[in-house]
Amino acid sequence: MIETDILIIGAGPTGLFTVFEAGLLKLKCHLIDALPQPGGQCSELYPKKPIYDIPGFPEVLAGDLVDNLMEQIKPFQPGFTLGERAEDIDKLEDGTFIVTTNKGTKHHANAVAIAGGLGSFEPRKPQIVGIENYEDRGVAYMIKDPEAYRDKKVVIAGGGDSALDWSIFLANVAQEVTLVHRREEFRGALDSVEKVQELVTQNKINLITPAEVTDVKGTDKVESVTITIHDEAKRFQEIECDAFVPLFGLSPKLGPIANWGLEIEKNAIKVDNTLDYQTNIPGIYAIGDVNTYPGKLKLILCGFHEATLMCQSVYQRMNPNKKYVLKYTTVGGIDGFDGSRKEAEKAVIKKIGS
Ligand SMILES: Cc1cc2nc3c(=O)[nH]c(=O)nc-3n(C[C@H](O)[C@H](O)[C@H](O)COP(=O)(O)OP(=O)(O)OC[C@H]3O[C@@H](n4cnc5c(N)ncnc54)[C@H](O)[C@@H]3O)c2cc1C
Repeated sequence: MIETDILIIGAGPTGLFTVFEAGLLKLKCHLIDALPQPGGQCSELYPKKPIYDIPGFPEVLAGDLVDNLMEQIKPFQPGFTLGERAEDIDKLEDGTFIVTTNKGTKHHANAVAIAGGLGSFEPRKPQIVGIENYEDRGVAYMIKDPEAYRDKKVVIAGGGDSALDWSIFLANVAQEVTLVHRREEFRGALDSVEKVQELVTQNKINLITPAEVTDVKGTDKVESVTITIHDEAKRFQEIECDAFVPLFGLSPKLGPIANWGLEIEKNAIKVDNTLDYQTNIPGIYAIGDVNTYPGKLKLILCGFHEATLMCQSVYQRMNPNKKYVLKYTTVGGIDGFDGSRKEAEKAVIKKIGS
C-alpha cells in the first residue's frame, strides 16, 4: 500500500504543480497517471509547441514547461505510479481514501485531488479480431520501456509522430523494425519524416505503405503479423516478429472516475469554486481541465491557481486546529523533503564604520 497525504490522479501540469504547493505546506504527494510519462497534454499532444500565456515566460515549449515543473517539485520527492489508470475509490470510516489502479496498485491518502484533464488517455486500437489475446504478449499500444525491444523484431503501425519517433529510436535498439502505414504520406514533424526516409535507405527500417496489419498470429505470444498491401493486386505479406506496436494515437475518456458518485456536468466534475475546488464528496477535489464551475477556463494557469487554493483546504482538513499563516517563498524559502533548503540571501545588519 502506498501511503501519502494527497493522492493526485493525473500528472499533467496541474497535478505536478500541486506537489509544489503541497510541499510548501509539508504535505506529501503521490501521482497516478495512465500515461508512461508525466506532463499530461503538454507531453503527449504538443511537447514541441510554444506556449505564450504562462506568467513570467514570454514563450516556453510545452515539453520544457513540464521539465521545469519536474525540476521545481524535485525537493518534495513525489511518488509516481505511471502507466496505470485510477480505477476504484473507497472512502474509509476515518474519512481517508484508498484508490486502486487497473493493475491493482493500492494508494492510501488523506485527500484525493483529481487532476485528470480531459480524462485518462486511452490508446486507439486497431480493428483486428482477437488482438486483445496478445496484449502484453507482444502487442502494446504505447512504448513504456524501449529496452524491452532490444534485439527483437518489431512491427510498428501508424503514421503520426509517435510511430515515426519510435521507429527512429528502435532502429538502433531492435534487431529489425518494420513500419506499416495505410497511406504513403506521414503526418509528423518534417525532420522525423526525413530521418525515417534516411533509415529506410540504410535498410535500418523496413517501410511498407500503403498497407495495414490485418491479423496477428502466435501460440502464446505474437509470432507473426499479416500485412494487407493496398496496391492494385491487394497482396498479403506475412512478417515474423516478436512485437506488434500499433501507435494510432490516444483518445481521452473520463473513464472510471465518472462512476465514483461525483457530480458530473458536460463530462467534467462539478466543484465549489467559491472556496477550494472540492467536489460533492468531502476530501475529493477536482482541479485543472477536469473540473467545471461558472466561468471555468481550461488553461494551465487556471489549473495552477486551483491547485494552490486546494492545497490550503487539504492542510486545514489535516490540521483542523492549526491556523495557517501564508509565508512568501522569498521570505520562508523552501525546505525540501530531501533535506535541501533554498532561501533568498538574508539582509545583513552591519554598522558602516566612519
Ligand atoms: C494543442 C494544444 C495546445 C494548447 N495550448 C495551450 C496554451 O497555449 N495555453 C494554455 O494555458 N493551455 C493550452 N492547452 C490546454 C492545456 O494543455 C490544458 O489546459 C492542460 O494540459 C490541463 O492540465 P491538467 O493537468 O489539468 O490536465 P492534462 O494535461 O490533461 O493531464 C491530465 C492527466 O491525467 C491523466 N488521467 C486522467 N484520468 C486518469 C485516471 N483515471 N487514471 C490515471 N491517469 C488519469 C491523463 O492521462 C493525463 O496525463 C493546449 C492544449 C492542446 C491540446
